[in-house]
Amino acid sequence: MRIDLHTHSTVSDGTEPPAEVMRAAARAQLDVVALTDHDAVTGWEEAAAAAADAGLTFVPGIEVSCRHHGVSIHLLGYWPDATSPAFEHMIAETRAARVDRARQMVHRISADYPLTWDEVLTHATASDTVGRPHIADAMVARGHFATRDDAFAEVLGGNSRYYVPHYAPDVLDAIATLRTCGGVPVFAHPGADARGRVVPDAVIVDMADAGLAGLEVDHRDHSPQQRERLAALATQLGLVRTGSSDYHGAGKVNRLGENLTSVEAFAALEAQRG
Ligand code: AMP
Ligand code: FE
Ligand code: FE
Ligand code: ZN
Repeated sequence: MRIDLHTHSTVSDGTEPPAEVMRAAARAQLDVVALTDHDAVTGWEEAAAAAADAGLTFVPGIEVSCRHHGVSIHLLGYWPDATSPAFEHMIAETRAARVDRARQMVHRISADYPLTWDEVLTHATASDTVGRPHIADAMVARGHFATRDDAFAEVLGGNSRYYVPHYAPDVLDAIATLRTCGGVPVFAHPGADARGRVVPDAVIVDMADAGLAGLEVDHRDHSPQQRERLAALATQLGLVRTGSSDYHGAGKVNRLGENLTSVEAFAALEAQRG
């Protein structure tokens, strides 16, 4: 069984529509695949239908943008009741804040690089969640950079003077909200320190106390040493160890199935469905 629990479509910052992500998953010989767009669930219906056609088991998921004492945290949530008002409220507020934030970043960037908000919007027409990758795509189209990664390295990273943060719920509240609506929360790429600040282990202990179900140990952004350390922490805290690709289509080098979740780990998550 090949299980990949973290992928993105054009609903957020992936480059393929939900159905195409599912077809690509079948070509990558996956058996189980989750769609986890940033702060949006609007890809589920299309993905579920395409997954059924391709003979795949579909897991409805989300990657909730969170924060804790100023550090950005991504929280995966599986099988939440997306009609729950608390859940809808949480992600709607973040999506609205993301638009203001992206406009502010474009305003700052445009002082040094010719770029308009309309150009960014043309790269997010299929998206419910606007993010820095769409700004990157507009800058690539303008010829300012060759790739998304180059745009992040020069202007879009968290330490850049063009960077603006956006509202996001505190991660302990987001864990509680996910649990309330039957979701199963997993901390995405907890050790990805090359992309920004990460939280200390003490915060992971607090997250576990708040209802966290798992740690995404096996992810491209973690070294073998980090995986070993995070796996030990997961064991110590009784958390499920997951592994995933964090596929973004052509938007990232990550390939479907490059990291996988074991059958036992997946069963342990499924057993916690509300
Ligand atoms: P945002 O959600 O607007 O804060 O942008 C964060 C998203 O940008 C992440 O989910 C990644 O998909 C992408 N990202 C972050 N860092 C990089 C990077 N160095 N290169 C390419 N994409 C990145
Ligand atoms: Fe992303
Ligand atoms: Fe993420
Ligand atoms: Zn992701």
